[in-house]
Amino acid sequence: MQGVAMTPKAYNKRLKETHPHIKCVGEFTKSSELLEHYCTVHKIKWKVRPSSFTRKIPIKGCRLCRSNTDDLTGKVFGRLTVVKPSNKKNTTGEYYWICKCECGNTHKTVGRNLKDGATKSCGCLNVETREKHGMHKSEEYRIWQGILDRCYNKNRSEYYRYGGRGIKVCRRWRTGENNEHPFLCFLADMGERPSKEHSVDRINNSGNYTPSNCKWATKFAQERNKRTNIKVVYKGKQMILADAVFLAGIVSYDCALARYHKGWSVKRAVETPTFK
Ligand SMILES: [Zn+2]
Ligand SMILES: [Zn+2]
Repeated sequence: MQGVAMTPKAYNKRLKETHPHIKCVGEFTKSSELLEHYCTVHKIKWKVRPSSFTRKIPIKGCRLCRSNTDDLTGKVFGRLTVVKPSNKKNTTGEYYWICKCECGNTHKTVGRNLKDGATKSCGCLNVETREKHGMHKSEEYRIWQGILDRCYNKNRSEYYRYGGRGIKVCRRWRTGENNEHPFLCFLADMGERPSKEHSVDRINNSGNYTPSNCKWATKFAQERNKRTNIKVVYKGKQMILADAVFLAGIVSYDCALARYHKGWSVKRAVETPTFK
């Protein structure tokens, strides 16, 4: 048949014989022209040249037929029900399947993970298992939840200083990555809290919560970091507020800072004694 002009009818007949699971959707014109086809096994439509089916070594069918993937649509694996194939592949060329989890989340994973039982949920199962094992009782977990809360919970009193100012939490720590719970991503990036005195400090105070902008720091170190952010001019010199307080030697840093935020001049803030 190759090389010979084919009629639409002849093409459809031939396709039915050689590829019964493939249907030609559009109007056949030329063997060499892209034409929409439908795979009844994988329930996907795609464009392909009719000649791909009629040549000496024809293709098997759609991309999933070609990668020897069984149709998983509608199958249930643990909490996941497969909805449809995705057209995205992982780095080793396996196609993802889009699944719906019992908890309502959508999750995508390759068929191998589903069939092996490696993936049984969107990740919610792991969270529950870990929570059962006491992970949620750890200090790091509490800190991680506090960060999310400050950035995304409008009802929190500190929200205006975080989420309200546009401070965000990186996706990895917010929704997790590679089927790993976001808290575990956070823990992997930050490591365990070095001591009870440590909390998460953002290196750039107006930057987001990301692995590169966060470190464990003691309150003292954090305070100093914050101080370095307030640049003032005192006695004709540019310096940080903490140094102006030190030079004046009259009031505490906290007192000067509070006054500074009230709009006092630097000189007045650091030189006016507090009255008892
Ligand atoms: Zn197929
Ligand atoms: Zn889930």
